[in-house]
Amino acid sequence: MIKTEMTCIRGKNGDEDKYVYNCGICSRLFRYGPHVYLGQPVKDWDIMACRSCIKSNHDGIVAATHPELVEHLKDCGVEIRFYANGHIAWPENSGLRFF
Ligand SMILES: [Zn+2]
Repeated sequence: MIKTEMTCIRGKNGDEDKYVYNCGICSRLFRYGPHVYLGQPVKDWDIMACRSCIKSNHDGIVAATHPELVEHLKDCGVEIRFYANGHIAWPENSGLRFF
């Protein structure tokens, strides 16, 4: 089941957790600022993604392993593209750093 926090780039409101985000791929929590950035926004997908997911999925995301992401992208009206290897392609010009 998709978590509501995941569908939104903004953090939780109010308290010290406002810099903690749900990864839209593994759904784990990670810190994004100040000074410590353990993930990156994927604006075209309206999610935050943790560094480990970005690195380990640099060649795309296996749709079968992440049905909740596929559902989220469909809900957002994102056109899903695939790499030649059949994995979901990251958005073009996303500015993501895969290292
Ligand atoms: Zn993750």
